[in-house]
Amino acid sequence: MKLPQTPQPRVFSGMQPSGNLHLGNYLGAMVQWVEMQKSHECIYCVVDMHAITVWQEPKELKDAIRQVVAAYIAAGVDPKTSILFNQSQVPEHAELAWIFNCVARLGWLSRMTQFKEKAGRDRENASVGLYAYPVLMAADILAYRATHVPVGDDQKQHLELCRDIAQKFNGDFAEAIRAAGFASGAFFPLCEPVIMGPATRVMSLRDGTRKMSKSEPSDMSRINLSDDADAIARKIQKAKTDAEPLPSEEAGLAGRPEADNLVGIFAAFAAKSKAAVLDDFAGAQFSTFKKALAELAIARLAPVTGEMKRLLADPAVIDRTLASGAERARAIAGPIVTQVKDIVGFLRPGAPGARPAEGHLRGKTPAR
Ligand code: ATP
Ligand code: MG
Repeated sequence: MKLPQTPQPRVFSGMQPSGNLHLGNYLGAMVQWVEMQKSHECIYCVVDMHAITVWQEPKELKDAIRQVVAAYIAAGVDPKTSILFNQSQVPEHAELAWIFNCVARLGWLSRMTQFKEKAGRDRENASVGLYAYPVLMAADILAYRATHVPVGDDQKQHLELCRDIAQKFNGDFAEAIRAAGFASGAFFPLCEPVIMGPATRVMSLRDGTRKMSKSEPSDMSRINLSDDADAIARKIQKAKTDAEPLPSEEAGLAGRPEADNLVGIFAAFAAKSKAAVLDDFAGAQFSTFKKALAELAIARLAPVTGEMKRLLADPAVIDRTLASGAERARAIAGPIVTQVKDIVGFLRPGAPGARPAEGHLRGKTPAR
């Protein structure tokens, strides 16, 4: 397959099967994923290789992968038009990640705040994979020469690193890239982060200064897409707040991270600005506001939750969807990663510059 000179617009993004998908994943990324299907070729991945950078129980991981797929489809990802697969079924991700490990610099990775947060104080005991995570993420994106990456706000730094890797690769190998027929010398695109979901940073319900996360031990800190109405209502009821009533202006949310977060979630679900939400709830007590928020969240999430349940009842269908998505993904990533290996100078039969096989070495006369 001949690759286009300049990468064509293409969307790539992924989520880890490291636990239940939650409101942050949904409002920060997934809503935008669904939107981008209307205008772009989209590739959406369940990044299981990222998940094992922290311990995952093997007997639970397969179901966690299926849960994420069910959530994607229930939220509106169409596996017929978009490509939907799990990362470990496409070996090009790992192959390209190794090459990028040799392009990225230690100093770049040492600045990554996600590693610092996830490794915590016991850094010596963190996996090498957790440290190298952003390099694999760059490989995920660039194995498809993807140009747009819809993510939540927390992934901004990793996407800057992805651009740095693409730029350094293009620079280091410029001569080989041109020799391979890419006249501009730029093989990889500098991908654009698309941080445009209705709420790009949803915070924990227990601590308004920490982002909502799958890997946070307390289930009360997040609303899972698999939670039923009772669980959603209970978690919102118990969400941390302060003692003041809601302000009438957005400026009144300053220094009140928990209040700011709940108003932000309401605004995202109601498709309104925070200011408009405060117009309606100025002076209200949290008990009143939380009741309205719970009703709204339940109404918006019920169709997703119901559809997820229906899909999960037939795991064989999910597994088939992933297998066929992986095949389509490999059809794109295969030729790109083969081209990268040629650019780097690896030898393989049929590569430009490879010597034809000698008949006597192979024990037969080579075909002419
Ligand atoms: P983990 O704790 O295991 O890292 P996570 O909750 O951070 O899980 P990821 O799978 O790492 O979820 O991220 C999937 C997508 O969801 C990414 O695009 C990420 O930016 C987005 N995202 C994650 N958490 C939030 C959040 N709290 N608010 C908005 N977007 C989020
Ligand atoms: Mg994360």
